[in-house]
Amino acid sequence: MALWFEENASPAHSLKWKIKRQLFSGQSRFQHVQVLETEQFGPSLVLDGIMQTTSGDEFIYHEMLGYVPLMAHPEPHSVLIIGGGDGGLARDVLKCPQVKQVTLVEIDPMVIEAARQYLPTHTVALDDPRLTLVEEDGNLFLDRAAPGTYDVILVDSTDPEGTGPGLVLYTPEFHQKLYRALKSDGLYVQQTGAPFYNPEVVSMVTQDVAQKFAICRVYWCTVPTYPGGLFTFTAGSKRYDPMHPLREVEWSTRWYTKKVHEMAFTLPPYLGELVPDAVKSAQA
Ligand code: SAM
Repeated sequence: MALWFEENASPAHSLKWKIKRQLFSGQSRFQHVQVLETEQFGPSLVLDGIMQTTSGDEFIYHEMLGYVPLMAHPEPHSVLIIGGGDGGLARDVLKCPQVKQVTLVEIDPMVIEAARQYLPTHTVALDDPRLTLVEEDGNLFLDRAAPGTYDVILVDSTDPEGTGPGLVLYTPEFHQKLYRALKSDGLYVQQTGAPFYNPEVVSMVTQDVAQKFAICRVYWCTVPTYPGGLFTFTAGSKRYDPMHPLREVEWSTRWYTKKVHEMAFTLPPYLGELVPDAVKSAQA
């Protein structure tokens, strides 16, 4: 009898993955953690019943979340990652030679341990000497961060759903803490979800970020794993426009290129309607 994992993208639409076996299941203080071996995309991380990242298509999301801001900043030496305990984003960020120091703040030690054991291609860089791993709520971590510490901040969190730990990372108070922790020419990006299913996330975040930062931009890519494929990111920048890559990547990638970077900021009218007019017109 075939095993299936089913995720409800909405009350009216679900996604199903055929499973070879469950590699891990545990209840942490924060969420239910599973690693499933899917037939389609290999070992995959599921948190509270939501597919987070799969070994088969994670490169799209991590390259677009990491390289768009890193290539738009002239000297991204100090990088903060909030979330990302699976290690995939840190792995890709650390390929960038300009990056000298990465701090990864993951609230749930169980995610890190499960990834180390069952997501080996994600966690290859978790022992890189440039990486500092912190097991804490990113919102609390930022309370102690000195002002003007980071060139780039990347928020690779779970969605702002229910009572999950990711909810706080989508509030105006958190965006204010991000702004304070960034250098005077810093920029940040956070994942703002699948607009066909949760359009309110990118709308809510861009409304606030456009008020706090000199520049607010939205870009997108397609990730088969996420409901509907279409996935968005929101950037807030104090000086450099994230739309404009300052250099090409000099290492091999499977999704990101300078042209893909530029294309990702072209908003179809469907997406333009979800963001403030100033953002839509700046990206027209
Ligand atoms: N790529 C995935 C996505 O886009 O849905 C995110 C994957 S990553 C595993 C999400 C991580 O964010 C989880 O490990 C979760 O524990 C972490 N997280 C959620 N809220 C957090 C918070 N407030 N502080 C630090 N980490 C948090």
